[in-house]
Amino acid sequence: MLRVTGLSAHYGRAHILDGVALEVGPGEVVVLLGRNGAGKSTTLKAIMGLVPPSAGSLRFLGREIAGREPFEIARLGLGYVPEERRIFHDLTVMENLEVGRRPAPAGMRPWTPERLFALFPGLGALRDRPGGRMSGGEQQMLTIARTLMGNPRLILLDEPSEGLAPVVVERMAEALRALKADGLSILLSEQNLHFARQVGDRATIIEKGRIRWSGAIPELMAAEAVREQYLSV
Ligand code: ADP
Ligand code: MG
Repeated sequence: MLRVTGLSAHYGRAHILDGVALEVGPGEVVVLLGRNGAGKSTTLKAIMGLVPPSAGSLRFLGREIAGREPFEIARLGLGYVPEERRIFHDLTVMENLEVGRRPAPAGMRPWTPERLFALFPGLGALRDRPGGRMSGGEQQMLTIARTLMGNPRLILLDEPSEGLAPVVVERMAEALRALKADGLSILLSEQNLHFARQVGDRATIIEKGRIRWSGAIPELMAAEAVREQYLSV
């Protein structure tokens, strides 16, 4: 569904990404793992067109998307949940979800608030609550739910477990597994290996803007030296 090859990106003169390559197949959950500052967020932003790639190819559903505008890329079916939770604080949960609504592509069952409340049970109870009066974990769930209202084919999730209490992280993992079971493809950035292994099929490790290792999650769990070198766990 998504094939990234030779992706490079700069911030001003600083060369941040250098030849990043990764792939996400239909219904697959791929985890982009790496320490703080490794280039995870920049990779997701470059895929989404928010940081202009200086080299490389980004193919999504068979189309080249490098150089396109973020709104166009979103319209093609790529959903993006940034690190900083972007919900509307003055709007209720229901209103936040309505803001995200986009028509579903042919043949796809559209997301509705009710289906999302089944996936994130906490949100249904808060449907009339303003977004600003929710906990960090609830806001994170709402951000993901709102992105799903756009009926994406693949979502990019930037460190969804960051800053969440362990019990909320477990609920997040459950929700992502349910999304995968529903056929959604997910590219997720993480530092948290415990979370990554609960939801991921494959992992790709990035360090200093370069891909250092790619393989199945069980292979990563067996590769102690790789984990020590790039993830310090
Ligand atoms: P990660 O998400 O893995 O923590 P980032 O992609 O955010 O890493 O950052 C990768 C590198 O790019 C870091 O060295 C960071 O300092 C740098 N960087 C991130 N955002 C900017 C920016 N807006 N301007 C300049 N440098 C940045
Ligand atoms: Mg980041």
